[in-house]
Amino acid sequence: MMRIGHGYDVHAFEAGDHVIVGGVRIPAPVGVRAHSDGDVALHALCDALLGAAALGDIGRHFPDDDPAWSGADSIGLLARVLAGVHAAGWSVVNVDLTVVAERPRIGPHVEGMRARIAGALQVPVSAVNVKATTHEGIGALGRSEGIAAHAVALLEGR
Ligand code: MG
Repeated sequence: MMRIGHGYDVHAFEAGDHVIVGGVRIPAPVGVRAHSDGDVALHALCDALLGAAALGDIGRHFPDDDPAWSGADSIGLLARVLAGVHAAGWSVVNVDLTVVAERPRIGPHVEGMRARIAGALQVPVSAVNVKATTHEGIGALGRSEGIAAHAVALLEGR
């Protein structure tokens, strides 16, 4: 038995000097407005995993009005999601992410993200893919008002 799930997240930029994407801290002329560390890639990935296991969504598990998750390290959230996925009887086969942003440049950090995510998910780096694209200057993302990410995850029965 296999299951597939999809996740999407977006965060607005605000004043700051770095963003955290895929578990990697990237120096930037902006920061991310968020209750947690604002890691769009890991939030999309959490939702993809939860979706594949039919366990709801990240907002249900980690409400953004709960002080417990204020400034939360999203690698920690991902580890909690993985524990829930395992408890529900599923293993991660592979995951694939797409980060959408005009800035900062994501490409140089893709391998670092793959390593962090693979470690958190307890899978080989070859089971984790991270892609980056701009929004071609179109719309809010194109005006660099924020950063977004899509993710899909495939699970198999344990
Ligand atoms: Mg988020």
